[in-house]
Amino acid sequence: MDDVRATLLGTSHAWPLPEPGCGCDQCTASREDAGKRRTRSGFLIQTPAGNALLDAGPDVWQQFEREKLKPEVALVVISHHHDDHVLGLRDLCIMNGRHRRVLPVHCGPVTERLIRATFAGLLREGQERIRFVPWETGSRIELGAVCIEGFETHHRADAPTTAFLVHVPRAEGVVRIAYATDMGSALPEPVERLRGVDLFIGDGTYLGEGNDKHPGTDRMIAIARELRAKRIAVTHVGHWGVDCDTARRLLPPDVAICRDGDDVLSLLA
Ligand SMILES: [Zn+2]
Ligand SMILES: [Zn+2]
Ligand SMILES: [Zn+2]
Repeated sequence: MDDVRATLLGTSHAWPLPEPGCGCDQCTASREDAGKRRTRSGFLIQTPAGNALLDAGPDVWQQFEREKLKPEVALVVISHHHDDHVLGLRDLCIMNGRHRRVLPVHCGPVTERLIRATFAGLLREGQERIRFVPWETGSRIELGAVCIEGFETHHRADAPTTAFLVHVPRAEGVVRIAYATDMGSALPEPVERLRGVDLFIGDGTYLGEGNDKHPGTDRMIAIARELRAKRIAVTHVGHWGVDCDTARRLLPPDVAICRDGDDVLSLLA
């Protein structure tokens, strides 16, 4: 029990922070303090039965290096085909090569098409480095006692996007963590599976108001409250332009702002 680790490898939106050439408070602070830098989305779940990576963004190689992690991944699940979630796949396969030559990639058909078009080298006949496994809302992966489920986030009509509901066994019982980096402003589904989650980690692309593709923190937090999430955290943090202290004041005090390297299970405390 309690032998599972869950680490946020990357917590930025589509761009890493700082953004080159920008002198805003957020970028300046992240240049001065490496702990405030943000890389593209990645969530690593380490279990005795193997490790699962949720999304493989372009910063994946440096995330493993920064966290001093063994590049050993049993499978990867890709939420949707946007670049910030998938472009690290080649590097991941190379890093992971000694551990597992053929990497199972769980994804939907639109993502599979993009991967096939982008990473032909990983699919050369007879030398395949990846193997596709269908993934959609309602899909489940079991890694020992940890279960990962897909749920629908209504992110964009042209980018079918599943987020993740992770069930982690703990000494005090199973905890449920919803992880939705990219989501629309509608309630994710199925609502009944998400009701009362222990932790909802949601889309923070925009601070305050957003749009129908990224809801903004106001609507994201309202969604999490509507689901009666016990704890709420913001990831996929965008170019907010304000320093951390201002951002902290602008969000409700009970909402955590995730950082790269965060231990997700500690956010439950
Ligand atoms: Zn994204
Ligand atoms: Zn900036
Ligand atoms: Zn997206």
